[in-house]
Amino acid sequence: MSGPVTVEDVTTDQEQPHAVPEPTLEITPSRAAKVDGQSVHRALPYRGRRTVGAWCFADHIGPFVIDGGPGLGIGPHPHIGLQTVTWLVAGEVLHRDSLGSEQIIRPGQLNLMTAGGGVAHAEESPASARGELHGIQLWVAQPEATRHGEAAFEHLDHVPQVEFDGAIASVLIGDFAGVVSPARRDTDHVGVEIQLHRGRCVLPLRPEYEYAIVVLDGAVTIGRQRVEPGNLGYLGQHRKELAVSVDTPTRIMLLGGVPFESPVIMWWNFVARTREEVEAATASWQADDGRFPRVETSLARIPAPPIPWRESPR
Ligand code: MN
Repeated sequence: MSGPVTVEDVTTDQEQPHAVPEPTLEITPSRAAKVDGQSVHRALPYRGRRTVGAWCFADHIGPFVIDGGPGLGIGPHPHIGLQTVTWLVAGEVLHRDSLGSEQIIRPGQLNLMTAGGGVAHAEESPASARGELHGIQLWVAQPEATRHGEAAFEHLDHVPQVEFDGAIASVLIGDFAGVVSPARRDTDHVGVEIQLHRGRCVLPLRPEYEYAIVVLDGAVTIGRQRVEPGNLGYLGQHRKELAVSVDTPTRIMLLGGVPFESPVIMWWNFVARTREEVEAATASWQADDGRFPRVETSLARIPAPPIPWRESPR
């Protein structure tokens, strides 16, 4: 999905990553945002936190019913310096990008698009789509070593699963509970969907990672605090494990990683290090100068909004 990060989410200043170097639980409300007229809950970034490991964006999409409606129709838009990770719980989304990829994603499958120096894509509901759409789109900030590199796209029909302590983990990226995803990974990070049934469960964690959870459905209790859909629960670092309990079947995303290597600037669909990089990418998109090749779709290109720091003062 398009992730129009705005100044409501983060300032446009450079911000140093600030992992909390101890176990904590900071629960923050997601921001209700609209993507193509559909409501999403933006769990990350927010004023106060831009990254969890290399994870820098989390839009919880739906659930909503698209029967009889047009569904999703997000026209071509550009990205730089990030990977988009798309994961569905219900429904289907058709992805098309400027590399020529055309791929329907369904629940349990992984779409991973690497922007590098520039890519464009469009995301829409296939004409056949019915019923519910429910999922999450995540972004991973690319490190210096790859962020100016080639764009790429990969689709996994299945991701590895592992059962532990009565729960089922689907390992999208990285490794968890001894199981390793084959998906590309440019930094040391992990993304796992965990289905919890009833009662208490202990999640194996890595002390050197910082972590956060997003609840997709149900609710999870950690200590005496409850994390529900519409929240992000930031967990800090230096945990070897995390005990959680649920009283109803619950699905969470666990995101973690080594604290990111450098400050990032995020604006609109760009993850960069300087405002000049954002300005250059915006100018290329507006001029259609070839940095972001065409996407084969009938949907209209999305124009860049005005750059906040270049707006004339009122
Ligand atoms: Mn996008």
